[in-house]
Amino acid sequence: MNGTRVVVLGAGIIGAACARELALAGLEVTLLDRGGAAAATTSHGEGNILVSDKGPGPELRLAQLSRRLWPEVLATIADRSPAGRRAVAAAEWDPKGGIVVATTEAGAHGLTEFAAAQRGAEVRAEALTPDALRAAEPFVTDAHTAAVHYPQDAQIQPAGAAAALLTDALAAGATLRTGEEVLAGVARGGRLTGVRTSGGLVEGDVFVNAAGPWSGTLAARLGAPFAVQPRRGDVLVTTPLPPTVFHKVYDADYVGAVGSSEEELQTSAVVESTHAGSVLIGSSRRRVGFDDRLRPEVLSAVAAKALRLFPSLAGVPVMRAYGGFRPYVPDHLPVIGADPRLAGLWHATGHEGAGIGLSVGTGRLLRNLVLDEPAQTDADAFRVDRPAVLATEPLPEAVSAPQAVSAPEPRQQKPTQQKRTQQKPTQQEQEGA
Ligand SMILES: Cc1cc2nc3c(=O)[nH]c(=O)nc-3n(C[C@H](O)[C@H](O)[C@H](O)COP(=O)(O)OP(=O)(O)OC[C@H]3O[C@@H](n4cnc5c(N)ncnc54)[C@H](O)[C@@H]3O)c2cc1C
Repeated sequence: MNGTRVVVLGAGIIGAACARELALAGLEVTLLDRGGAAAATTSHGEGNILVSDKGPGPELRLAQLSRRLWPEVLATIADRSPAGRRAVAAAEWDPKGGIVVATTEAGAHGLTEFAAAQRGAEVRAEALTPDALRAAEPFVTDAHTAAVHYPQDAQIQPAGAAAALLTDALAAGATLRTGEEVLAGVARGGRLTGVRTSGGLVEGDVFVNAAGPWSGTLAARLGAPFAVQPRRGDVLVTTPLPPTVFHKVYDADYVGAVGSSEEELQTSAVVESTHAGSVLIGSSRRRVGFDDRLRPEVLSAVAAKALRLFPSLAGVPVMRAYGGFRPYVPDHLPVIGADPRLAGLWHATGHEGAGIGLSVGTGRLLRNLVLDEPAQTDADAFRVDRPAVLATEPLPEAVSAPQAVSAPEPRQQKPTQQKRTQQKPTQQEQEGA
């Protein structure tokens, strides 16, 4: 495969992880992004690396692979160069463990059953007595009905983690091109051979769609539409506090909110401190397209849930709030693999609220698939041609127009003004940019 040209479309944490694995394998990798590296969803979330919120199945196995890889990958990057060492320090890796707290009898029952099933899938899930919970989290509510400690959960600073992966990809020979939007694909003989960008034509042998919540739109531009959509989430950030929250702590309702497909607002308490002392308070889930307005009612619902878990946070100053768009697939599983409809097109997307944690496992799995190596985790569940992924509805005119074009194109020819007009991004994209 040496000499194979890979073009990764999107430089968020998923694109960075894929670019790193493929560049380290000796492929010639170019990473394209219309904005800056890690500037979209990756810098608009929290940084929980969780096995605790996943039931037995393929996503848990990908999470377990990722959890094993994270410390290994970070140590390798730090050892490679002083720049790598600095990047890893900025990623703030913290294997602090998670604690899930139920506050109702029904919640306690659900949590106990869920943890028992996870233990059968090699997740460490340790029931905590009230005294043990008090020792681990002195400020958590007394009104709890059950608690489980997950020592394998960890935390990372997402943009820092993406920068560390990217630093290593560049050190391995990858090239990063920012401010360059992918507008359309160029196909020859049923194979994607190039992408037309705002900067010209970029040719390649393998194209990896890693455009996060915009990957559905990008897939449509390349002529292979599918159903990845945005699912909004908002987070509150307190001013730096004295030590108050020692693990990643969330309420037992969170797993239900993650697994639901409701368009309407879902909230649950997810609370954790950062190295700088601020406490991050999440989280919400809403399907509102790319509407990026912060809503007071969402923020107050998130705050109310957090106060039930940590009453001592009442009165704590909130420094800021932000939100982002999780890349959502209706069956809640990522999409990783080759697109059977268009040779040369691959996808690594749809990680919803777990893309930071799952990034390194995704990069490894994609490399296994591209190089036809034995896969380190089960890839079948993430295949592109599953009913939840393939769009069956006709796409709106504005999205479906710039499909992969089949006419031969001279190398590096700039797109004409007329073609750019036809390929104008949809209203949704402009709002989400
Ligand atoms: C509030 C919130 C909290 C979260 N908390 C967590 C958490 O605790 N743990 C966790 O694991 N995950 C969490 N997530 C999810 C996680 O942030 C995402 O799954 C992850 O960042 C997705 O990364 P990505 O690289 O796929 O997408 P992105 O980071 O969005 O990257 C995609 C890139 O593609 C580029 N792009 C798009 N279209 C084009 C185009 N046409 N041409 C060129 N470039 C293009 C974009 O500019 C962007 O940089 C959270 C998300 C949110 C919103």
